[in-house]
This record gives sequence, structure tokens and C-alpha cells, in this order.
Amino acid sequence: MSEKLLVVGSIALDDLQTSKEKRKDVLGGAATYISVAASRFCPVNLVGVIGDDFPEEHVDLLESRKVDLAGVEKAKGKTFRWSGVYADDFSSRETLDTQLGVFETFSPKIPEAYRKNRFVMLGNIHPGLQLKVLEELLGSAFVAADTMNLWIDTTPAELNELISKVDLLVLNDEESVQLTGEQSVIRAAAAIREMGPKMVVVKRGEHGAWLFSDVEPFFAPALPLEQIVDPTGAGDSFAGGMMGYIASQGIADIDAIKKGMIYGAAVASHAVEGFGADYLAGFRMSDIEKRVDRLQRLVSLN
Ligand code: AMP
Repeated sequence: MSEKLLVVGSIALDDLQTSKEKRKDVLGGAATYISVAASRFCPVNLVGVIGDDFPEEHVDLLESRKVDLAGVEKAKGKTFRWSGVYADDFSSRETLDTQLGVFETFSPKIPEAYRKNRFVMLGNIHPGLQLKVLEELLGSAFVAADTMNLWIDTTPAELNELISKVDLLVLNDEESVQLTGEQSVIRAAAAIREMGPKMVVVKRGEHGAWLFSDVEPFFAPALPLEQIVDPTGAGDSFAGGMMGYIASQGIADIDAIKKGMIYGAAVASHAVEGFGADYLAGFRMSDIEKRVDRLQRLVSLN
């Protein structure tokens, strides 16, 4: 039976620059991409904060996707803002600016009805806030968390405490190496599993994603795409698709996680074909199923 997914993380307005285009005030944020991606698979309960400048049309879009916003606080002040510029070949990106705005004083409050959720995705945000959410949960949940280099550099103690308390850590290859000081992703994943999580998913962009657990590793390829428009949110869309699929199955066993990774890769391939989480909201399930087939054929010998 499908269960609800509790999602926490940033809700943002992004200014993005690629070699072809510049866009301002794009609907972004880790929790936004995760929620939009997951909402085709299961009902989503979103916890976060927006400022009084957050456009009503974005609220309408999230509500139209059946994302429950009872846990989204509207605070006085400006919505979180991030701006970034991509290299011409999209192989790297640089953060130009981060404005915390209403996140500066935000303390997540989990509505009573969300506290018993059995599936939780802690999107990228200060690890102290991710920990606070964990403290408010009742009962036992399957908890996945994402993070980024900023928190590895600036808040290592809180991040380590968080990592010790989650079931699944999702991070990219460079972050796994930076976090552990190991030279290879495989050794980094083993070191992370020593820190607490039973499972680690290492995202490698166009090179796919690896799952490390107590059984043999699993590889989910990324769909080869001829044209990328905007890679922002690809990792969050992957994680959202994966956790949405897992919650829809009502069980986080290895089979559901592997299949979730393939669904996550299919959703992420759609996310990079346009700007913003509102573009991602346009994906059709029939299109995702076609992409899942293509992903399976990529590594099938039959
Ligand atoms: P991704 O491309 O999957 O890493 O996700 C990009 C999204 O993360 C953007 O929409 C940003 O608004 C958001 N983001 C960037 N920096 C931060 C940060 N320090 N904390 C939380 N979210 C962030």
C-alpha cells in the first residue's frame, strides 16, 4: 500500500546561468525538486519555509501536484535564494551566491499528522535542521538524507551526528571522497557505512548511481541525453523519484531501493531537459515508464 513521504529541505528561488541562457527567480530548492519528483509515486508531506515574496503560482503548482503544504511556514522576509553558473559542458558549476533569507531563523515544526510517517527524505539543508526533524518523529521510519560540500566543510560535527542516525545516505562522488578522506568512491562508501547508515547511494551525474549495502553493489545508469538545458535539481529529482517509488511500495527492502533508483534516474533525466521544478512537474508517468524501459535495456544482454 502506498505510504506518504515526509520531505524536508530548502524551498528556493534560483538564478541560473548556462552557456545558452540566464534565468531569474526559477522555482528551486532541494525539497521542491524532491517533492515534485516523488509526488507522482506517493502523497508528499512537505516541511520547509517560504518568504512573503514567494509567488502564489508556485504554491498553486505544488498543491496541484498533491504536495501537502501544511508543514510549509510562510515567514516575514525573503525566500531562500541560490544562484549558480554552469561550465559550457555542464561538467561543473559554481555557486555565485546563497542568501539564507527566512532560513536564517527557521526551526522546522512537524505537524502532528506527519510525525508517524514511515518514509522520510531529509533534503539538503543545514544538518542541525535535519537532526531537529529526526527528533520530532514518532515511531520508526526509513530515513534517507542528502547533504552537500558546504556542510562537510562548515558543520562536520552535526553532519556526522546526522549520518550516524539515518538508514540511507545519498551524496555525490566528490562529496563522498571529501567526507571520508578516502581516495576511491568504493572505499568512501565503505567508510560511510561504518559511520552508521546501512546503505549509501553515490550519485555520479551522467555516469549513473551506485548503491552500497550489505549485499553486492548495484548500479543504476543515467540515460544518455544529447541535450541538457539545466542540470539544477537533477540529484534531488533522482532522490525524490527513488524515495517516492519506495514509499509507494510501502517497504524499503533492497529490491524496492534498486527499482527506486531506476525510477529516480528516469525522473532526473526529465528534470535536466528544462529549467526549474515547475518544468519537472510536467512529466507524465507514461514517459517515465518508457525511460525506465530504456534504462533497463542499457545494461541488459537480452
Ligand atoms: P542539485 O542540483 O540537485 O544539487 O540541487 C540544486 C538545488 O539546491 C537548487 O534549487 C538550490 O536552490 C538548492 N541549494 C543550493 N545550495 C543550497 C544550500 N546551501 N542549502 C540548501 N539548498 C541549496
